[in-house]
Amino acid sequence: SSAPPGPVEHLTPADLFIAVKTTGRYHRQRLELLLDTWISRNMPQTFIFTDGEDKRLRKILGPHLISTNCSAAHSRQALSCKMALEYDTFITSGKKWFCHVDDDNYLNVDALLKLLSQYSHTQDVYIGRPSLERPIEATERLSSSETKQVRFWFATGGAGFCLSRGLSLKMKPWASEGTFMTTAELIRLPDDCTIGYIVEVLLGASLIRSALFHSHLENLGLLSDVQNQVTLSYGTVENRRNTVNVKGPFSMTEDPTRFMSVHCLLYPDTPWCPLPH
Ligand code: UDP
Ligand code: MN
Repeated sequence: SSAPPGPVEHLTPADLFIAVKTTGRYHRQRLELLLDTWISRNMPQTFIFTDGEDKRLRKILGPHLISTNCSAAHSRQALSCKMALEYDTFITSGKKWFCHVDDDNYLNVDALLKLLSQYSHTQDVYIGRPSLERPIEATERLSSSETKQVRFWFATGGAGFCLSRGLSLKMKPWASEGTFMTTAELIRLPDDCTIGYIVEVLLGASLIRSALFHSHLENLGLLSDVQNQVTLSYGTVENRRNTVNVKGPFSMTEDPTRFMSVHCLLYPDTPWCPLPH
């Protein structure tokens, strides 16, 4: 990865559009925890994209809950449908940066602002963590009889990624108003791969790799400097928990994902965080 040019743009939270992807059955199981932690401090710039109405969430989030008509299935089409709406809503918002996270991500917005302020939102910026060690190979369908092999990098959606407005606007012909779904079908790969395909193959820009984004595909227990990472996640590998290592203030039973403990480390003034002694 190339060294960022240094601080070029002063950013505030209001410059961000943060899209969280979720689904009906995870509203209680996953989203609640995010609402209690990082989202609680970042409501104005956060939008939750889901697949069904939820009266309780609507009351808390108002227009920040975006109930899509996308199917609740884990299919490629259903996930692309949500990404397409995240993109369209960002374009309409006029914000400088589009950032996507999953509902099992903790987002450290201060760390994110620090990272993005090193770039200009008018330039071509696509930043995140590649999920593979080498570029993905895909078969691009050019017509009903013609195909072409293409190779490109993409940022894994499960670690979160960001796109500058400058680059997002260039993506319009392949991403806006329903075209994203058609583009995804050209390579028959998931939504996060489709973003990489548009950026790298169709526009000739490159993914900026950042080691500050994390998904549960990596061993999170090995992660140091947890407080300065942009995203975190949690999961299970062969029935063992895969979480970041933070000592307190909550036990593994009270806080199995460690997100509450991370949040109290970052913002000890949070009412439900134990007082430091
Ligand atoms: N998800 C979804 N619809 C589904 C299943 C999952 O929108 O039917 C979302 C989920 O809320 C999460 C993301 O897709 O934001 C990834 O899901 P998960 O973490 O369960 O799977 P992973 O791909 O990380 O193994
Ligand atoms: Mn996940």
